[in-house]
Amino acid sequence: MIEINHLEKKFGEQRILKDISLSIPAHQVVAVIGPSGSGKSTFLRCINGLETITSGSISVDGHVIDASVGKKEQQKEIYAIRQKAGMVFQQFNLYPHKTVIENVMEALLVVKKMKKEKAYSIAANLLEKVGLSDKKDVYPSQLSGGQQQRVAIARALAMEPKLMLFDEPTSALDPELVGDVLKVMKQLAEDGMTMIIVTHEMNFARNVADRILFMADGIIVEDAKPESFFHQPETERAKQFLRKVT
Ligand code: ATP
Ligand code: MG
Repeated sequence: MIEINHLEKKFGEQRILKDISLSIPAHQVVAVIGPSGSGKSTFLRCINGLETITSGSISVDGHVIDASVGKKEQQKEIYAIRQKAGMVFQQFNLYPHKTVIENVMEALLVVKKMKKEKAYSIAANLLEKVGLSDKKDVYPSQLSGGQQQRVAIARALAMEPKLMLFDEPTSALDPELVGDVLKVMKQLAEDGMTMIIVTHEMNFARNVADRILFMADGIIVEDAKPESFFHQPETERAKQFLRKVT
């Protein structure tokens, strides 16, 4: 599903991602963890073309972003990848002047040019899936952070993505609201969605992910199954990190 070859990302002269190569098969749930500033968000943003890459290539479901190809050609591929990859951020960025269901319908109407009735019924189903059927006609400001984040997930799912990218989706939430969002993500994982999740929720990473990528200083320092990463990290860097966060 995803093939990354010698990915490098620089901001100015600073190398933020250093020669990353890896492949992620369909249906795999990957948790990306690591210290602040290690490049986790940049890595996710490169995958769906929110950052231009300095060298190397990224292929998502057959669409390739290749640093050595012209900007215009790249743009077409990035557009195709964005159709396939839903992204959920720490900040939910819902449209404040639209109701919950209108937020979920928006891309269906605008990008997929769907009829209103059809978009409405798809959006209503998705809201049921994230446990918010009773909130479909309220505005985002009337929801808790956890509820808003679940709307953001439903909105991303409306495009029927093949891949979901999550960048610390629960870090802005009050602790008591985190569980409901993680529950939705866990269900999505069980339904077979391919997912890359940057998270500080170590229990979630341990219990839900198939694979842990531990990132430090722009390098994937460890790439392991959760059991082995959490019980027997191989590097001093990972041991140090785990001592701090667990
Ligand atoms: P956190 O856990 O705090 O979210 P992170 O692992 O997601 O950290 P990134 O946000 O990917 O880290 O940032 C990696 C490095 O790239 C940092 O040193 C950051 O300052 C730098 N960086 C990120 N975005 C930019 C930008 N637009 N311009 C310049 N430098 C940037
Ligand atoms: Mg980040």
